[in-house]
Amino acid sequence: MAEINHAERAHATLSASGAHRWMACTPSAMLEKDLPDTTSEFAKEGTTAHELSEIYLSHEIGEINKSTRTRRINRFKKENAYYSQEMIDYVEKYVDIVVEKINEAKARSDDAVILLEQRLDFSEWVPRGYGTGDVVIISDGHLEVVDLKYGKGVEVSAVENEQLRLYGLGAFNQFDMLYDIETVSMTIVQPRLDNLSTETLEAETLVEWAKTEVKPKADLAWSGEGEFVAGDHCRFCKLKATCRARAEENLKMAQYEFDKPAELSLDEIGQILFKAGELQKWAKDIEKYAFDQAEKHGKKVPGWKLVEGRSNRKYADEAKVLSTLKVDYELDSIAPRKILGITAMEKAIGKKVFAEKLSDLVIKPAGKPTLVPEGDKRPELNSTASAQADFK
Ligand code: SF4
Repeated sequence: MAEINHAERAHATLSASGAHRWMACTPSAMLEKDLPDTTSEFAKEGTTAHELSEIYLSHEIGEINKSTRTRRINRFKKENAYYSQEMIDYVEKYVDIVVEKINEAKARSDDAVILLEQRLDFSEWVPRGYGTGDVVIISDGHLEVVDLKYGKGVEVSAVENEQLRLYGLGAFNQFDMLYDIETVSMTIVQPRLDNLSTETLEAETLVEWAKTEVKPKADLAWSGEGEFVAGDHCRFCKLKATCRARAEENLKMAQYEFDKPAELSLDEIGQILFKAGELQKWAKDIEKYAFDQAEKHGKKVPGWKLVEGRSNRKYADEAKVLSTLKVDYELDSIAPRKILGITAMEKAIGKKVFAEKLSDLVIKPAGKPTLVPEGDKRPELNSTASAQADFK
């Protein structure tokens, strides 16, 4: 069986994984389309887990023999920085769940069909829409799509999950003619959160959802039309920092109409708390964007400058500090379990003695660049981008 490059799984403009967003905010898809992708460490780790699970499952369903599995796993261990025993344990947990489903399918019908890494085309409802199903199981009029989610940040439910439903639709579309599918299950397995979530729908209900909910929104999204709607789905939008609709939605907070009394009621505080979480996320996105513009792209953000951030003093050589002090102090008083930190040491032996004996053994590392208001006393730093330009 040909090996699959999981990191390069194709992504459609109207992708299944982005469906929750482009269905809620239809103009977002076309605006995001040409912006660069960023790959996080978590995404790379997820890709690794998918690759590993595919090796295990290929063996389980008889596509590769044991020695090929061992050879591929050994090569994988050597070449993959994200590989760990912990990952093996979680992937095995996922594989066990899938194998159980496969066995159930085989018990229902001898000619159960099992497919791995299946390209699923749902372009009948979403222009050029396709995605990849990790596992597709078909038996006795029932189809199930299983999706491994290796992340452990947020528990994801399969119920009313647009991404999974689009996978289900793609699989239904592809296999209904051959297997007369009556029901479709869509399952998420998150082994690191012990989360196994399934939604099962009559095939008719799924297709009705596609016609009435998905298609009209997909058509709007494809033509870049519709209303901007901000919400939780902005979190993974490439425009999240610069989007005006999101800014306006968040700034409505400032126009909150308070009642007359001087103090806020608990009712009002309850309402503000709901909004505060969103505001915090938005503020972080804006801060990161402004910092990246200044640091990576050498752009000036008016009113702001890059400076060296604060850093903590540390010992240049702990062993030398101990040998210097051991002459005059009991070990217990300067290193009860481990060596005292700098502030605690100054307190223990007095600032004056500290300066006399240890000043040569204390260093202050350079602080990380930080974006601060222009009025800050610290001198402006050159950004990485302008430093590279200077160097050239
Ligand atoms: S940030 Fe939110 S509101 Fe703005 S385009 Fe993206 S999804 Fe839509």
